Amino acid sequence: MTDNTKYVFVTGGVSSSLGKGIIAASLAKLLQAQGYKTTIQKLDPYINVDPGTLNPYEHGECYVTDDGAETDLDLGHYERFLNVPTSQANNVTTGRIYQSVIEKERRGEFLGKTVQVIPHITDEIKYRIQLLGKSGEYDIVITEIGGTVGDIESLPYIEAVRQLKWELGEHNALVVHLTLIPFLSAAQELKTKPTQHSVKTLMESGVQADVLVCRTEHELNEKIKNKLARFCNVQKESVIQSIDASTIYDVPNMMLEEGLDSVVLDKLRMSSSKPDLSSWNEFLTRHKNPKNEVTIGLIGKYVELQDSYKSILESFIHAGAVNEVRVNVEAIHSEYLDRNNVKLKLSHLDGVLVAPGFGERGIEGKIDAVKYVRENNIPFFGICLGMQMAVIEYARNVLRLPGANSTEMENNVKHPVIDLMEEQKSVTHKGGTMRLGSWKCVLKEGSKAHEIYGELKIAERHRHRYEYNDAYKDQIEAAGMKASGVNPDTGLVEIVELPDHPWFIGVQYHPEYRSTVSNPHPLFVAFVKAAYEYSKSKKNVTMA
Ligand code: GLN
Repeated sequence: MTDNTKYVFVTGGVSSSLGKGIIAASLAKLLQAQGYKTTIQKLDPYINVDPGTLNPYEHGECYVTDDGAETDLDLGHYERFLNVPTSQANNVTTGRIYQSVIEKERRGEFLGKTVQVIPHITDEIKYRIQLLGKSGEYDIVITEIGGTVGDIESLPYIEAVRQLKWELGEHNALVVHLTLIPFLSAAQELKTKPTQHSVKTLMESGVQADVLVCRTEHELNEKIKNKLARFCNVQKESVIQSIDASTIYDVPNMMLEEGLDSVVLDKLRMSSSKPDLSSWNEFLTRHKNPKNEVTIGLIGKYVELQDSYKSILESFIHAGAVNEVRVNVEAIHSEYLDRNNVKLKLSHLDGVLVAPGFGERGIEGKIDAVKYVRENNIPFFGICLGMQMAVIEYARNVLRLPGANSTEMENNVKHPVIDLMEEQKSVTHKGGTMRLGSWKCVLKEGSKAHEIYGELKIAERHRHRYEYNDAYKDQIEAAGMKASGVNPDTGLVEIVELPDHPWFIGVQYHPEYRSTVSNPHPLFVAFVKAAYEYSKSKKNVTMA
């Protein structure tokens, strides 16, 4: 039990996309590696109650926690770096803040008072920030404030930080401000002015940055650091350079070198020691020195944007390191895939992952892809919608049920092998109403899934409304596609596999949400291994 939790706020200035999440996660990693119990929270200034209703084009992947919260993708980074589960309390949006204040108002809890941004909204923000600290589980809570300082919508958050810093007192809270130092190539100069302005904007709200983390493409020399310190009211040691990294997993070591952890701990009057990053560095060595490589096709409809499948891409990095294999992920748009070009687009791949997704667009391309890899013994991994596509493809082409489909795609489908879950039939609201969070699953003894997990009882995170239709289970199993994982309480089929195929597994859940640096997901590890074996077998055939 910790009764004196310290708070670190991470704000952003100058530009968005500077990587506040990675800086927060890296700092947390360094603190955790010195024995401090640390968690990270993200406050998002948009009005959506959570990102669950956002199109991935808008805000990247929606990350799901064990307790079924649909959250910002930064929470994925927090879990991947810290290997500690996050929860609903770790992501709060303006929408959620207002929703709870308005609900309190409707219940009459404000006793006739006028409800205002200050103090009611800021009190709610402060309450949410301290919720994790007051749980007694953490020595340090890092709160990342989304958006950029100066945005209208961030103002209540900055005001809450100002009040909390004051209430908690010196040495109990501090602000790390992440900014950009642009390089003007015409002048061949790094420029500090935008940072000076963003620190000034923060000060206009009564908040003094304690530490500056400066994103830059070139080394910051002493002169620039001195200048930043002088103009921004921070000590020179508190000006931390964050130069572009080749991988996000380098950032903790880079922050260590710059002394971000010791500056923070010193200001919080906490002792610092050498962080134990040995297993982290072991992972990095394996990641950076692959002995072999494989190319895996990621088939989806949001492939233009890296962030849409963030957790899948990171899971491949973790699994690649375990196998000492570089995993090249080739994004393939399912909308432009059909039975005539599928061979051309997939035959060179060592494995194919059909991605999660919603709606009809691009699904026929996914089904054609599954058929091709099933018939050609190419390792296949289907996640959520990808698993559903595998069942549909099998029903159409092996069971000979023409027109088999999911009721998500067609209302009056003749063979609804994928159907809306019973409990979903009465659901009308969109937000937070899917089957979400961690659910138990029991594996079939002797199945591939059992062999891979090495245990019979697992729990994995879900986010879906449709499911394998039990009415077709006997037929599907008799034809050869086995249900190798089932929910013990509801009987819902969570895993399908083809025992006669070198590696063909579809899962209704999202294993990618559980893969971390220190705990890579076994399915991804096994899939990458299978892809590597397949690539070797292809070479042998060519050589023979
Ligand atoms: N659209 C499908 C469903 O709701 C799959 C969801 C997903 O891939 N996350 O069941």
